[in-house]
Amino acid sequence: MIFQIQKVLTITLCAFVFVSCTSDRSSSRSHEHAQNGILFIIDGMGPAHITAARIFKNNSDTPLAMESMEHLAMARTHSTNNFVTDSAASATALASGVKTYNGAIGMTDANFDPSETSQKLQSITDLSLESNRAVGIVTNTRITHATPAAFFAHVPHRRLEAEIARQLATRSEIDLVIGGGLEFFLPKEEGGERVDGLNLIEKMREQGRKVVTSHEEFKQLNPREINQNLVVILEFDHLAYEFKRADEEVSLSQITDFSIEFLEQRGKSKSGYFLMVEAGRVDHASHMNWTEKMLEDMVEADRSIETILSKTQDSNDTLVIVTADHETGGLSLQGYAPHSAVAGRGILKNHSRDVRQDAYVYGVVSWGSGPGYDSPLEADADDPKFRHKATYPTPVAYHTAVDIPTLAHGPGAFQINGYIDNTDIFRAMKNALKLID
Ligand SMILES: [Zn+2]
Repeated sequence: MIFQIQKVLTITLCAFVFVSCTSDRSSSRSHEHAQNGILFIIDGMGPAHITAARIFKNNSDTPLAMESMEHLAMARTHSTNNFVTDSAASATALASGVKTYNGAIGMTDANFDPSETSQKLQSITDLSLESNRAVGIVTNTRITHATPAAFFAHVPHRRLEAEIARQLATRSEIDLVIGGGLEFFLPKEEGGERVDGLNLIEKMREQGRKVVTSHEEFKQLNPREINQNLVVILEFDHLAYEFKRADEEVSLSQITDFSIEFLEQRGKSKSGYFLMVEAGRVDHASHMNWTEKMLEDMVEADRSIETILSKTQDSNDTLVIVTADHETGGLSLQGYAPHSAVAGRGILKNHSRDVRQDAYVYGVVSWGSGPGYDSPLEADADDPKFRHKATYPTPVAYHTAVDIPTLAHGPGAFQINGYIDNTDIFRAMKNALKLID
């Protein structure tokens, strides 16, 4: 049923956009086959987040690692019911290639489904497992959070995190899972959030999965020597923002490195692997107008991408796609400070400009909405908790509708080109991995 709906939707789409479905570009190079696929999702990252991270890490002129990826597209992200998406609808589009309503995890929108009911969608995780690939789903948010959840669960609303955890516990065929969110795996009696009394950690161990719940234990694992499927739940809630991560805590780039080692080893006895990595805290910092926290997490995401590119470039058998689910906050960078004044931490500071003898003080960084509305202009913008100025006073900054830079490298990367839809990112990965639905 699921498969048929997706086919109908795809055929219908192709009938409307005949040119893009049969273009020379895709047919002439359709032989490009990727053994492995890595989808790296930076939650909340828009065009300005990349520019700001480049200036913060180095200067205006020195590209980030992700900028070395040779293929680029801009992806539309709207959902079925709103011109601005949430992470659930957008992650479902990336994971399953079908647009749905805000809040939906791996389910269709009944208003657009031929069956007129909301149906479970088949995901790239399912297709990869069917093609005998190893699969990893890793994040620095709760594993039950919207973006990772769209890669293994089906629920009508993202808030149903206890149910998302229960569904993850039924998916013992997934080789690797890393994230936070222990609260949804433990019953109330054991300090968790579950009201059904289930201890899902025990349940997953009974299935023969290896389950690790501390940074210390995780750091001692050798990714090439684990024979069981592995579940790592490192925190009760999300993993820490990079700026306040303690040395003993695992970073996103360490998680990424581990995941590739683990899946490469696992993929040898299979037909390769699919890995989804989410850098999820760029979105959280952006919602609060915390520019420095956002930038530290952007730089750590870029470090993770650098790891991916260096570990996969020699074999040239891995399609790597870097994208976001949506932009968060309406981040803006305005002129006209000299390069030397904005490079590095200078981007966080206020500057002044004389216009006809009047000095205007302004921040290089501002946001479209959020709690930074009240921030004083003269405050110490060097404080990581400083919220940069926002135009509209909202308790948390809103997501925006801007198109999302999507980068690709490796076999099949040519499909990431021009203006595309976020559902095309699923199809690019599916085509390159020659997955059949
Ligand atoms: Zn968000």
